[in-house]
Amino acid sequence: MESKKNKLNQLNKKMLACKKCSLRATCHQVVPGEGNASAKILFIGEGPGKKEDELGRPFIGSAGKFLDEMLAIIKLKRADIYIANVVKCRPPENRDPLPQEAVACWPWLLEQIKIIQPKLIVTLGRHSMERFLPGQKISTMHGTLVIKTIPEIGQQNFYTLYHPAAALYNGGMRETLITDFKKIPKVLEKIEREK
Ligand code: URA
Repeated sequence: MESKKNKLNQLNKKMLACKKCSLRATCHQVVPGEGNASAKILFIGEGPGKKEDELGRPFIGSAGKFLDEMLAIIKLKRADIYIANVVKCRPPENRDPLPQEAVACWPWLLEQIKIIQPKLIVTLGRHSMERFLPGQKISTMHGTLVIKTIPEIGQQNFYTLYHPAAALYNGGMRETLITDFKKIPKVLEKIEREK
């Protein structure tokens, strides 16, 4: 059977050729995502920023450094997890992705989830949460586990977090994000126990 890694490599090649929305015309390169193809946890951010657009890798700027620090607190490394984004191409000037851009990129994210089959999807920020839990407020959802069936991927476990970039320089939000982040191992344990 073809490995998850090979399947992701094939998918990445298709993403690199995608022109389904206008973001590809203004970004430098597509940032498909990276990490462990067999990860138990899939982190989903919003979209590439300047650094990510330059280097073709997700979360490598200041938000990425903060993410790495929080991963270290729960004894995880990049190589243990997978990281992707709602949109794979940088929105100009780091503006929010437009709904039509998120919709155009959605099939890629679904394919990534279908291949990786993570036990837990951690959404980073409200744009990521909105894809899976539309109409919810991040101020009430953060730090809670939601089990939901998405037609294309089946039943999934979602854990909502504030976005590391939003929390980076906001003392209160930063503390909340770290507190929520530290609960991830227990959340995963609960999922594995109850499956
Ligand atoms: N912010 C995101 O949401 N994704 C990245 O890859 C980098 C910063």
